[in-house]
Amino acid sequence: MIPGARIVLLGRQGAGKGTQCVRLSRHFVVPHISTGDMLRAAVREGTELGKMAKAVIDAGQLVGDDIMVGIVAERLDAEDARTRGYILDGFPRTVAQAIALDEITAKSPVDLAIDLDVPRDLVLSRLSARRVCRDCGANFQSTGTDPSPWTCENCGGDVVQRDDDTPAAINQRLDLYETQTQPLIDYYGSSGRMVAVDGVGSPDDVFARLTQAVEQRR
Ligand code: AMP
Repeated sequence: MIPGARIVLLGRQGAGKGTQCVRLSRHFVVPHISTGDMLRAAVREGTELGKMAKAVIDAGQLVGDDIMVGIVAERLDAEDARTRGYILDGFPRTVAQAIALDEITAKSPVDLAIDLDVPRDLVLSRLSARRVCRDCGANFQSTGTDPSPWTCENCGGDVVQRDDDTPAAINQRLDLYETQTQPLIDYYGSSGRMVAVDGVGSPDDVFARLTQAVEQRR
């Protein structure tokens, strides 16, 4: 176990980030904080945030930096994140968010940013086949002969296709990743906190590379 690891996982949507974050959080016993999951929970609960976020998410756009920074600041202030660290999934997504994150965490900064690298054409095909558990967020791949209804093997929740996994929204998100999120590789690189991990391969192989990257930094 690595106590107090503070990790940011970057990478295109569809790179397998969500699944790997769940595994990493269990392995290192740190909370998995996914801003996408938090927003989807708000959508399900019908809160003001959820109502606003739904249209933005379905269009493949980004929710405003101020809103996202507020949500994450509150979450990182919780006891578990303060004492055990965290794996941030889906945040930061812009340089402005990364700067704000460094301000919020000035006393105990992010140790490591990992870029889970998977080429664009590969994630396009993965995203089209992606299915997610509505309750625990676990990711699955459709084979075309899926159970119906499909029940999550981890928690018993409904496994569904995300509303924002339409081809137009997927392409929009991949474009945004290149313009808004890829600059974070330089941002974290300039402070010596960046490591790239090859995200192509079996989930077990990729997980082994990720844990090795984390352990090498400690
Ligand atoms: P994800 O589950 O990380 O793929 O996020 C799903 C959607 O939530 C994204 O396409 C964005 O619309 C929104 N979202 C999640 N995290 C952020 C963030 N850090 N900044 C802006 N929008 C976000």
